[in-house]
Amino acid sequence: MVSKRTAIPEKVKIAVLTESGYMGAVPTCRCLLIELHHIVPVKSDGKNEASNLLPLCPNHHTLFEIGKIKQESIEVWKTMLVVSGELYFGLPPLYKVSLTDKGNRIIEAWFSGSRDQVRQAPNDITLYNSE
Ligand SMILES: [Zn+2]
Repeated sequence: MVSKRTAIPEKVKIAVLTESGYMGAVPTCRCLLIELHHIVPVKSDGKNEASNLLPLCPNHHTLFEIGKIKQESIEVWKTMLVVSGELYFGLPPLYKVSLTDKGNRIIEAWFSGSRDQVRQAPNDITLYNSE
Protein backbone atom coordinates (compact mmCIF):
# COMPACT_ATOMS: atom_id res chain seq x y z
CA MET A 1 0.00 0.00 0.00
CA VAL A 2 1.25 3.45 -0.92
CA SER A 3 1.34 5.95 1.92
CA LYS A 4 -0.80 9.05 1.44
CA ARG A 5 1.53 11.06 3.68
CA THR A 6 3.32 14.00 2.07
CA ALA A 7 5.47 16.74 3.59
CA ILE A 8 3.60 19.63 5.21
CA PRO A 9 4.39 22.82 3.25
CA GLU A 10 6.60 25.28 5.15
CA LYS A 11 4.02 28.07 4.76
CA VAL A 12 1.39 25.88 6.45
CA LYS A 13 3.73 24.94 9.30
CA ILE A 14 4.46 28.61 9.95
CA ALA A 15 0.75 29.50 9.99
CA VAL A 16 -0.03 26.75 12.52
CA LEU A 17 2.94 27.55 14.73
CA THR A 18 2.28 31.29 14.62
CA GLU A 19 -1.26 30.63 15.80
CA SER A 20 0.01 28.63 18.78
CA GLY A 21 3.00 30.83 19.58
CA TYR A 22 5.27 27.89 18.70
CA MET A 23 3.86 25.96 21.68
CA GLY A 24 1.75 22.84 21.88
CA ALA A 25 -2.01 23.33 21.91
CA VAL A 26 -2.56 21.79 25.35
CA PRO A 27 -2.98 24.92 27.50
CA THR A 28 -1.04 23.60 30.49
CA CYS A 29 1.80 22.06 28.47
CA ARG A 30 5.10 23.93 28.51
CA CYS A 31 7.08 21.57 26.29
CA LEU A 32 8.84 23.37 23.45
CA LEU A 33 9.27 20.29 21.28
CA ILE A 34 6.37 20.32 18.82
CA GLU A 35 4.91 17.88 16.31
CA LEU A 36 1.97 18.66 14.02
CA HIS A 37 -1.00 16.40 14.57
CA HIS A 38 -3.54 15.81 11.77
CA ILE A 39 -7.01 16.38 13.26
CA VAL A 40 -8.53 14.36 10.43
CA PRO A 41 -5.96 11.58 9.94
CA VAL A 42 -4.01 11.34 6.68
CA LYS A 43 -5.37 7.81 6.20
CA SER A 44 -8.89 9.32 6.23
CA ASP A 45 -7.85 11.90 3.63
CA GLY A 46 -6.98 14.58 6.19
CA LYS A 47 -5.11 17.36 4.43
CA ASN A 48 -1.87 19.19 5.14
CA GLU A 49 -3.84 22.38 5.74
CA ALA A 50 -3.58 24.69 8.73
CA SER A 51 -7.21 24.07 9.66
CA ASN A 52 -6.44 20.34 9.96
CA LEU A 53 -3.23 20.64 11.96
CA LEU A 54 -2.74 21.01 15.69
CA PRO A 55 0.65 21.44 17.35
CA LEU A 56 1.24 18.90 20.14
CA CYS A 57 4.33 17.91 22.09
CA PRO A 58 5.47 14.30 21.56
CA ASN A 59 4.00 13.26 24.93
CA HIS A 60 0.54 14.66 24.24
CA HIS A 61 0.70 13.38 20.65
CA THR A 62 1.41 9.87 21.95
CA LEU A 63 -1.36 10.15 24.56
CA PHE A 64 -3.77 10.88 21.71
CA GLU A 65 -2.45 8.04 19.57
CA ILE A 66 -2.99 5.52 22.40
CA GLY A 67 -6.47 6.83 23.12
CA LYS A 68 -5.83 8.61 26.42
CA ILE A 69 -6.68 11.98 24.86
CA LYS A 70 -10.00 12.11 23.05
CA GLN A 71 -10.83 13.69 19.70
CA GLU A 72 -13.16 16.04 21.56
CA SER A 73 -10.20 17.57 23.40
CA ILE A 74 -8.28 17.97 20.16
CA GLU A 75 -11.20 19.90 18.67
CA VAL A 76 -11.59 22.08 21.75
CA TRP A 77 -7.89 22.99 21.72
CA LYS A 78 -8.00 23.88 18.03
CA THR A 79 -11.04 26.03 18.67
CA MET A 80 -9.30 27.80 21.55
CA LEU A 81 -6.31 28.63 19.37
CA VAL A 82 -8.44 30.01 16.57
CA VAL A 83 -10.59 32.07 18.93
CA SER A 84 -7.71 33.44 20.98
CA GLY A 85 -5.88 34.52 17.84
CA GLU A 86 -8.85 36.58 16.77
CA LEU A 87 -9.97 37.76 20.18
CA TYR A 88 -6.74 38.59 21.95
CA PHE A 89 -4.29 39.29 19.19
CA GLY A 90 -6.66 40.74 16.60
CA LEU A 91 -5.30 38.35 14.01
CA PRO A 92 -7.53 37.94 11.02
CA PRO A 93 -8.37 34.26 10.68
CA LEU A 94 -5.47 32.61 8.90
CA TYR A 95 -7.89 30.18 7.30
CA LYS A 96 -11.44 28.97 7.40
CA VAL A 97 -12.12 26.38 10.08
CA SER A 98 -15.08 24.06 9.99
CA LEU A 99 -16.12 23.71 13.60
CA THR A 100 -18.22 21.06 15.22
CA ASP A 101 -21.44 22.10 16.97
CA LYS A 102 -19.55 21.96 20.25
CA GLY A 103 -16.79 24.13 18.87
CA ASN A 104 -19.37 26.64 17.73
CA ARG A 105 -20.96 26.65 21.20
CA ILE A 106 -17.63 27.48 22.80
CA ILE A 107 -17.00 30.29 20.33
CA GLU A 108 -20.50 31.65 20.77
CA ALA A 109 -20.01 31.64 24.55
CA TRP A 110 -16.65 33.31 24.22
CA PHE A 111 -17.92 36.13 22.07
CA SER A 112 -21.11 36.59 24.13
CA GLY A 113 -19.07 38.15 26.91
CA SER A 114 -21.27 36.29 29.39
CA ARG A 115 -19.17 34.62 32.06
CA ASP A 116 -22.00 32.25 32.89
CA GLN A 117 -22.25 31.11 29.29
CA VAL A 118 -18.48 30.65 29.09
CA ARG A 119 -18.54 28.58 32.29
CA GLN A 120 -21.43 26.49 30.96
CA ALA A 121 -19.86 25.71 27.56
CA PRO A 122 -17.34 23.09 28.81
CA ASN A 123 -20.09 21.49 30.92
CA ASP A 124 -22.21 21.11 27.80
CA ILE A 125 -19.29 19.28 26.23
CA THR A 126 -18.89 16.95 29.19
CA LEU A 127 -22.58 16.10 29.08
CA TYR A 128 -22.42 15.62 25.33
CA ASN A 129 -19.39 13.33 25.72
CA SER A 130 -21.00 11.07 28.28
CA GLU A 131 -24.06 10.37 26.10
ZN1 LIG B 1 2.34 18.52 25.72
